[in-house]
Amino acid sequence: MTQALSTLADRVAGQVIRPEDDGYEEARRVYNAMIDARPAAVVRCTTDDDVVAVVRHARDKGLSLAIRGGAHSVPGFGTADGALVADLSPMQTVDIDDAARTATAGGGTTWGRFNDVTAAHALATTGGIISTTGIGGLTLGGGIGYLCRAFGLSCDNVLSARVVTADGSLVTASADENPDLLWALRGGGGNFGAVTRFTYQLHPMGEILGGVMFFELADGPAVFAHFREFIRDAPRQYGGFPAFQIAPPLPFVPEDRAGEPFVAVVSCWTGDPEEGARVLDRFRQVARPVAEMIGAMPYPALNSAFDGLVPAGLQHYWKAAYLDDLSDEAIAVNMQHGPKVPTVNATVHFYPINGAVHDVPGNATAFGHRDANYAMVIAGMWPDPSDNEANTRWVRDYHSAIAPHSATGGYTNFASADDQDKVADNYGVNYSRLTEVKRRYDPDNLFHLNQNIQPSPVPLPREDPA
Ligand SMILES: Cc1cc2nc3c(=O)[nH]c(=O)nc-3n(C[C@H](O)[C@H](O)[C@H](O)COP(=O)(O)OP(=O)(O)OC[C@H]3O[C@@H](n4cnc5c(N)ncnc54)[C@H](O)[C@@H]3O)c2cc1C
Repeated sequence: MTQALSTLADRVAGQVIRPEDDGYEEARRVYNAMIDARPAAVVRCTTDDDVVAVVRHARDKGLSLAIRGGAHSVPGFGTADGALVADLSPMQTVDIDDAARTATAGGGTTWGRFNDVTAAHALATTGGIISTTGIGGLTLGGGIGYLCRAFGLSCDNVLSARVVTADGSLVTASADENPDLLWALRGGGGNFGAVTRFTYQLHPMGEILGGVMFFELADGPAVFAHFREFIRDAPRQYGGFPAFQIAPPLPFVPEDRAGEPFVAVVSCWTGDPEEGARVLDRFRQVARPVAEMIGAMPYPALNSAFDGLVPAGLQHYWKAAYLDDLSDEAIAVNMQHGPKVPTVNATVHFYPINGAVHDVPGNATAFGHRDANYAMVIAGMWPDPSDNEANTRWVRDYHSAIAPHSATGGYTNFASADDQDKVADNYGVNYSRLTEVKRRYDPDNLFHLNQNIQPSPVPLPREDPA
């Protein structure tokens, strides 16, 4: 061990794993198998002080610093060649305050763990749709999921955060303390510091009615058009999205149809079950599903229902777009490219982000495009590296085709490594204020392994958080 790393190892309670150590191969791995970086060391942080020590060490030694939560970043921002990795995955404590209906969770917590703990108190907040994803990266980029039409984005539910900033201080970001930092953390990604703990607002949550319906491609235009009309003023208890998806070989799929691409509608209804059954039945009146699996279940069950389609170790290449609407023209483009979805792991989702997401003014948090109605993701995921070129091309061609029907920029958490030139567009009206907050908290861009916001070179007029 180099002298510097052994000094760090003496300062932290967690393990410091270097290339020559057992466990390095596993420690350097992130979720996207296309990322093959060899960091200088991975530090399994167990306490706030560990994170402080790693941040200070990287800053003092001039090392590139990667912060890793759930490791699901498609561009692989949780690692880099030669970097010092602060791996927060051991920090998964979730504490509930029932009276205040809040949860305080460690920065490396996964949504699976978070949802299990909150569900035991009949509470929930907006999170992602796959349980293995980290709350850290997902929340900091915004956070879109089944509950966002009801309760806003994940970041809208963050009441406060404990943050290790670039100078190595441990600070609180809340409405009362460093409110500009809280504003930036609500959508600005990992640009502003390492969050050791998030405190979220929770909401009462019982059983939900949810699942998936698969429709013939020929019925796709009618299903999309129904979704468009329905979602405009749909009850906020409905959180769901249309998608392109190859049907997996599961018992509810007719055996001879598994492996075929379909237009799917994934639904989550959190209100009265009878009303929910009527709402979902309207989809069946548009077209008869080829297969469906809809039922009452605990909220965390829906959040892990699709985990099996996306195991760790797939190749990933994704692109993001914001759509104002699913116009007939946009539907036609989607019907041309969506059915070419190459594997059962890959998917295309159209998340509606109206409802409670639109209640929050566009400049009240860093999240870029509250004016959009849909966040679209073309999520290329496949097991075989020899398909990398063909499947990356599918994602790119699809994204180019939808560009005339979408806003500039996309949801930062769905963007790829080659989307750095779109960062300003991803944040739209909030970008220049983000560069100013970046200048204040991280003038030397220590936190640069992310969709990177450059610090403003000069002070810009200060805006108080809305
Ligand atoms: C299978 C899958 C499903 C997904 N589903 C959804 C979804 O339903 N909704 C949605 O909105 N997004 C979704 N995403 C996108 C997801 O939001 C991003 O990939 C996100 O970056 C993952 O966060 P992470 O903590 O797992 O990743 P990591 O790779 O650990 O981190 C990603 C970025 O966030 C930063 N970061 C992470 N934790 C912290 C922290 N504690 N403090 C400071 N910075 C931190 C990292 O530095 C890095 O820049 C999904 C991604 C995948 C791969």
